[in-house]
Amino acid sequence: MQHVIQAIGTIHSPYPQKFAIPRQPGLVTAATAQIELTDTYGHPDTTRGLQGFSHIWVSFLFHQNLAQGWQALVRPPRLGGNEKVGVFASRSTFRPNGIGLSVVKLLSIEQGNGGTLLHVQGGDWVDGTPVLDIKPYLPYVDAVPDALGGYASSAPDAAMTVHFSAQAQQQLTHLGDQYPQLALLIEQVLQQDPRPAYHKGKSSDKVYGMQLFDLNIQWQVRDHENHVVNISKGF
Ligand code: SAM
Repeated sequence: MQHVIQAIGTIHSPYPQKFAIPRQPGLVTAATAQIELTDTYGHPDTTRGLQGFSHIWVSFLFHQNLAQGWQALVRPPRLGGNEKVGVFASRSTFRPNGIGLSVVKLLSIEQGNGGTLLHVQGGDWVDGTPVLDIKPYLPYVDAVPDALGGYASSAPDAAMTVHFSAQAQQQLTHLGDQYPQLALLIEQVLQQDPRPAYHKGKSSDKVYGMQLFDLNIQWQVRDHENHVVNISKGF
């Protein structure tokens, strides 16, 4: 069966690229995003009563991966990228219909002429991600405390220490007004260790780079600790 689906809006997130985005929502709470509901989907009626819910389900499109199609077997990063599992036993971004699902905290709802903005916390989306649907999170039915989580039964290790060099500290101070949560955002993202799985556990002089907002963040890993060495505008 084929059915045409229409995006109801777009996500504006602090992640201009897929690299370094946390692998699931709620892991980086310093990241706030706006879900812009446009056209008829942005009419105030569509979100009437939503303010009574603290969390929402967001279904969206992995639009940056659609062209690559999907595979029946995938290698979850959680298993080190070596072991294969079925695509339906994973949260892989390469799926038959390219649909993602995330629960996020709803901070506020802003209505304006252009539509509705949902301010949310802790999303795992690249900037510009198309939104397919929004649903309230219903704790009495959506939370299953005794559920088994298979190979992903607990949150990924996020214990890596993050240091800022004197230069990076200075740059943070300089950027502080424009990006108030920047230091915490960088720290929480790097605590997830976004490096490719095959780099982990290896020490090297490599300088890694990631983009947040319109900034380029450079860091090194020494003795399994992150050292932010440079934060500059533009990339
Ligand atoms: N929570 C969702 C789920 O379980 O369906 C997404 C999990 S998926 C592993 C999260 C990753 O998707 C992010 O780390 C990022 O690399 C990737 N991603 C986010 N937005 C995307 C987009 N629009 N297109 C392709 N990949 C995207």
